[in-house]
Amino acid sequence: MSTPTGYRVIAEMAYEPNRPERGYTGETLYVNVGTGAMETRPVTDRMKEVFIGGRGFGLWRLWNAVEPTTTWDDPANEIVISSGPVGGTTAYPGSGKSIVVSLSPLTGNVIDSNAGGYFGPYLKFAGWDAIELQGKSDENVVVFVDGKNGLIQLLACPETDINTHVLAERLMRAFADSDAPRDIAAVSTVTTGAGAQNTRMGCLNLSFFDLKREAVRVKQAGRGGTGTVFRDKRIAAIVVKSPAVNAASNRPADVSRLQEVGKRINKEILELDASQCDMRRVGTAHLVEIMDEYDLLPTHNFKYGSHPDAGKIASSVWREKFGQNMPDGCWLGCTMSCSHAVDDFELKTGPYKGQKVLVDGPEYETAAGCSNLGVYDPGFVLEANFYCDTYGIDTISFTTGLAFVMECFENGILDAEKTGGLDLRFGNGDAALEVLHQMARGEGFGPIVGEGIRRMKTRFAEEYGADPGFLRDIGMEAKGLEYSEYVTKESLAMQGGYGLALKGAQHDEAWLIFMDMVNNQIPTFVDKAEALHYFPMWRTWFGLVGHCKLPWNDIEPADNAQTAEPAKVPEHVANYCEVFAGVTGTEVKPEDLILQSERVYNFQRVFGVRMGFGTREHDAIPYRSAGPVTVEEYESRAERYDGQLVEKVGIGPAGMSTEEKVKAMRDYRESQYEQLIDAVYKRRGWNEVGIPTVEKLQELGIDFPEVVEVVRTRLK
Ligand code: SF4
Repeated sequence: MSTPTGYRVIAEMAYEPNRPERGYTGETLYVNVGTGAMETRPVTDRMKEVFIGGRGFGLWRLWNAVEPTTTWDDPANEIVISSGPVGGTTAYPGSGKSIVVSLSPLTGNVIDSNAGGYFGPYLKFAGWDAIELQGKSDENVVVFVDGKNGLIQLLACPETDINTHVLAERLMRAFADSDAPRDIAAVSTVTTGAGAQNTRMGCLNLSFFDLKREAVRVKQAGRGGTGTVFRDKRIAAIVVKSPAVNAASNRPADVSRLQEVGKRINKEILELDASQCDMRRVGTAHLVEIMDEYDLLPTHNFKYGSHPDAGKIASSVWREKFGQNMPDGCWLGCTMSCSHAVDDFELKTGPYKGQKVLVDGPEYETAAGCSNLGVYDPGFVLEANFYCDTYGIDTISFTTGLAFVMECFENGILDAEKTGGLDLRFGNGDAALEVLHQMARGEGFGPIVGEGIRRMKTRFAEEYGADPGFLRDIGMEAKGLEYSEYVTKESLAMQGGYGLALKGAQHDEAWLIFMDMVNNQIPTFVDKAEALHYFPMWRTWFGLVGHCKLPWNDIEPADNAQTAEPAKVPEHVANYCEVFAGVTGTEVKPEDLILQSERVYNFQRVFGVRMGFGTREHDAIPYRSAGPVTVEEYESRAERYDGQLVEKVGIGPAGMSTEEKVKAMRDYRESQYEQLIDAVYKRRGWNEVGIPTVEKLQELGIDFPEVVEVVRTRLK
């Protein structure tokens, strides 16, 4: 196939694609988009043993690319994308994830973010276990990986509209072998949009061609601003073309073993999903009403956990709107098929106003983020969802960041003059959408919101004289990353789940609210610390091998509740041992999988230390995630808090003012959090400031000289 018309070749390299063998091709691809340099890099047995794949490969490649002084916008920073050895398996559901690793514009530290879509598996089938992009171009470029013909090209991109729904569609069709749907479906792209380049919260969209709809779909690597790094490098897109995919494409060690275990879980999903989470019909959006019922659905910048209008954006609404009334998988063979979409949604605002578009989602996080803004209009949710995706903006950072702005507005820290005329009170969906469009245009107040909460706090204190303490309390970010959408005030373990997550406030390391708050299964500090050891290790493992987390515990075997540890879903853990062995040929037990994760997790923590982060002060959380900041918040749940003052703090609230009660509650909860950190550090084998000890590194077998050196230097 010749290069599509209009795409000028800047550099190219022919290669002989290595087809995967037991889940690995044995090579990663390096491309410098600034110089045009391209290189094949070997994957050693040691690299596979220690870093496994996916997030592990990304971290190792990035570690070797940057210095402690490297910033996110330095040409030396990289975007690394890798799927992992299991990625591309079609016999077991949820085996198509890709993990993006980079230095984050929001946190300055290492970020990892995962996405569905076909890119990671296709990259592997094109011959590469990972792609590593470095340098900065001075014009918009496309990196084309032609896995059918063995060619890598760095191309000047002639397209002027880089927003995802336009660019991904054009690229998939332009680079396909023909107009036939099956040829278009052999192409996958990574794109972002105009919003990513004007903010720090840019996401990456990984595409696939939906053969039922004959339409391009996208899944987001949302967190930490990897789309912003992409645009800073002037990358418009990565395009990969894959040879035909079948059950043997990943060349597993034992395909019948995979099919056996896959058959078992597929049967479970088909029989039980409708009576459990109903992922096949409504996806993660089923959580809206559950979170509302348990006072966990963020409203008005996490002040409260429920709202009388929550039903307007609950699952019954999405069940009706999701197109074609059929399950939607974001990788081949995913029976869980939770990636739903709304077809023919007519846009009311922005540059594409009046057009009918396909909206991928909404997921729970997006709907709950809109609740956090106080907007309970499904049309708004879809409009915001679509424009965030096509502009390349993370819906979580956008809504959590804007919720903070709205609270500042309602407290008089901001006014219409400072926002350029926008009345940014809770509930004003029109103003919220205008902020989003401003982000894409790079003008007005939008780019200020796009800097993220951490930088807005500094700006509002310095420029508008706002109280830094109040901003610190209500600014829902940790390590510079905006909180995802769960209220954590009544779950100490979940406060740790957010505060101690390596990347910042994201729930993909641990989601412990029900175990902790609802079921009281982890009452002591030791119990909570054990959970904050085990679950992050387990979830890290999904990112090492290319698995989706959802088929682990969003579907449970019928007898799961009768097992010794139902929260761990033991039957599915056993499945994963089978899957890993079936793909790689290496026999493993559950504790081996945990060890695989513990190595990479501790390596990432040391990487953070190397970059100037990764210590106790960086594990701090805003007080709103631990308890009521304001009098109105306390009084909204006075009975609960008064009861806790008596039972937990040992104070009788009679005769106390609400301010005094807020303070007493705060002293108690802040001290609880510090004790939790001590317990978790101890369990993880870290010292009192949160750095893995040399003994821990030795125990894990990651005591490479350069890793030990970072720890020793920091401890001096
Ligand atoms: S469970 Fe949902 S998100 Fe996960 S791979 Fe399947 S369709 Fe994609």
